[in-house]
Amino acid sequence: MVHRAYKYRFYPTHEQAEQLAQTFGCVRYVYNHFLRQRTDAWFERQERMNYNATAKALTVLKKQPDTAFLADVSNVCLQQSLRHLDRAFSNFFKGQARYPTFKKKQRKQSATYMANGFRWRDGKLWLAKHKDPLAIRWSRYFSGTPSSITVSCDTAGRYHVSFLVEEAVTPLPVTPKMVGIDLGLTHRVITSHGDKISNPRFLRRTERKLARAQRSLSRKQKGSNNRAKARHRVARVHAKLADQRRDATHKLSTQLIHENQVIAAESLQIKNLLKNRKLAKAISDVGWHKLLQQLAYKAERHGRQFVQIDKWYPSSKRCFHCGHITDKMPLTIRTWDCPSCGTQGIDRDVNAARNILQSGKAILAGADKLRQHEKTTVGLTGG
Ligand SMILES: [Zn+2]
Repeated sequence: MVHRAYKYRFYPTHEQAEQLAQTFGCVRYVYNHFLRQRTDAWFERQERMNYNATAKALTVLKKQPDTAFLADVSNVCLQQSLRHLDRAFSNFFKGQARYPTFKKKQRKQSATYMANGFRWRDGKLWLAKHKDPLAIRWSRYFSGTPSSITVSCDTAGRYHVSFLVEEAVTPLPVTPKMVGIDLGLTHRVITSHGDKISNPRFLRRTERKLARAQRSLSRKQKGSNNRAKARHRVARVHAKLADQRRDATHKLSTQLIHENQVIAAESLQIKNLLKNRKLAKAISDVGWHKLLQQLAYKAERHGRQFVQIDKWYPSSKRCFHCGHITDKMPLTIRTWDCPSCGTQGIDRDVNAARNILQSGKAILAGADKLRQHEKTTVGLTGG
């Protein structure tokens, strides 16, 4: 079984929008309040405050006259806020994330409801303390019962609801095709088959639109009505761009998973080794992280193998045909001739993608051997 999130746009009634704003505010308040408490507990008394301690303190907080407003919203959301905070701390202690930061009112707002915080019946969703079901725009179908629901409102003022559903794995028919992918900047992805996939044209168009909207915003007088309007316009274009990027990434990852049994790529840690400050922004813009994430979970969902190469390997400098490794390979060189085997006009990126596939296959073969070895050793000790 795998968890899968289904996200839809919805349109709250005036009353629901008010209730949601109140819930978002309380969720944020609880998160920030206990972030402060946990920080103080550590710095003032060297105590670690865990989830249970914060949950107990929340019950007390709700009875104080100054913070009695917390009792007006679903308690489930407040508890989930504490869980999110707890996860942020444990990610920090594991060295996987930075120290948690305060949630701001100007950013995207969200609240999570567990099963006891919503009612799901006949394809309709009621949130705790809501009289009417949400008016959801159903863009695709899902079956099963959601285990949790997250409601959010982005900076452009759009509401979304995300259902977390447990689903059975649906393997795709096995194919002999395998692919190595090199992540690029001018092309998003270069495959070992020789395909070069760029950002679609509509993305570039929206990017230009965004630049225009930002320029217009910078020219408006501070505090003016026109400036507020221009800021809203920038937020709308930003939201549209984010949507288009997400759709394009989903399309690409789905295609790669559908067409290939094995997909090999370099991990982002390896890519980051190569990055310099100038490239850093471009790298975050092309969304490599999202693409790799999607490949990983879609592979799991459909019975494919996704291998990430996380040891440095001279994928660009090595000639795929003979294994010769050249000394230098500046980014400006797009094609080269191998001095060892004499192959001419080697495409830098396709060559790298082929090397990536080859080392991915080596990793899989190694893992297979290890499994085989474990099987025999277990067999021996068992017998
Ligand atoms: Zn060669």
